[in-house]
Amino acid sequence: RPEYKVVIMGGGGVGKSALTVRFIHQIFVSAYDPTIEDSYRRNLNVDGITVALEVLDTAGTEQFMSLSSLYVRSGDGFLLVFSLTLLDSVAELHTIWEQIQRIKETTHGTAAAARGGGAGARAGAMGEKLERPRVPVVLVGNKLDLQHERQVGREVAVNLSRSWGGVPYYETSARKEINVAAIFEDVVRQMIKA
Ligand code: GDP
Ligand code: MG
Repeated sequence: RPEYKVVIMGGGGVGKSALTVRFIHQIFVSAYDPTIEDSYRRNLNVDGITVALEVLDTAGTEQFMSLSSLYVRSGDGFLLVFSLTLLDSVAELHTIWEQIQRIKETTHGTAAAARGGGAGARAGAMGEKLERPRVPVVLVGNKLDLQHERQVGREVAVNLSRSWGGVPYYETSARKEINVAAIFEDVVRQMIKA
């Protein structure tokens, strides 16, 4: 049975832990403990394929960039979460996205170099587009149930997902259990194909 690791990243308080616990235990945690950082396991069947999924729920410690890069290195796929009720939480995803691209590209570049890829560097210098494997990512706008507190319009998030090359975007509620399974299934589908 294939094994994949999904890492959940995003600003503090956006609902990373609530989404994780909702997915793993089917309950909603209303208490907020920003320090919880844990990894969970669950099997998931997607399109007839059962995979063993490890879910790493990260905490605010990403401010230590070295730790954050460890997370990124260890992940096969990523859920990048912001809160629909907090515009600033969208901006926080930029550095995470860039870090994922940088680290996954470096990994790939090293492999290419090992295959005799000085040519790859030259192609880049000549401005040709280098093939880069697409990293499995889903963009998640959480707290959809708090309609009256909404600060982030759908088009803002859709534009962001386009600027990232068209990563899938979902609006979720950990509280009302909207699209929680869908985000995990989507990233698993991407990881199976990757
Ligand atoms: P994290 O720091 O990203 O892990 O955030 P948490 O998952 O701990 O959530 C922060 C707070 O927001 C907690 O009080 C949660 O109960 C609440 N929360 C998380 N997801 C939702 C949601 O979908 N709807 C509502 N109304 N509250 C949520
Ligand atoms: Mg948390």
